[in-house]
Amino acid sequence: MKIGNDFPITPPAINPETAPFWAATLEGKFSVGSCNACGENHWYPRTKCPFCHSHDTSLLETAGKGSIYSYTVTHKGPGAFAAAGPYVIAYVQLDEGPRVITNIVDCETDDLAIGTRVEAVFFPAGENAAVYRFRPTA
Ligand SMILES: [Zn+2]
Repeated sequence: MKIGNDFPITPPAINPETAPFWAATLEGKFSVGSCNACGENHWYPRTKCPFCHSHDTSLLETAGKGSIYSYTVTHKGPGAFAAAGPYVIAYVQLDEGPRVITNIVDCETDDLAIGTRVEAVFFPAGENAAVYRFRPTA
């Protein structure tokens, strides 16, 4: 049985700094922050570059693709995830550079490995956002 497609969905807390990122998720777009001063991309998107501290940042739409950098299989989670196990928590290295902590869904845990190619998928989470997770690419 493939895991993770019935995970609990918790609408994210949205503030003026993160609103553009969450608005893009409604269109199935995964974005990262990008610094116009030093050229580095960063996760999470924010108005101050974590590399050079410039405030000249923008949102960069990515292809939503990357590979698993590291992962773990959790069998018993906390809170809303108490009955969701087993599930996968992973760091995904995006092709654009930043690493994103996320869940891997629509997979068999035995099929995963470091380097497995994955892509972003989105689950409705209210009017203002869709929650992102990643799944192995076909
Ligand atoms: Zn910078």
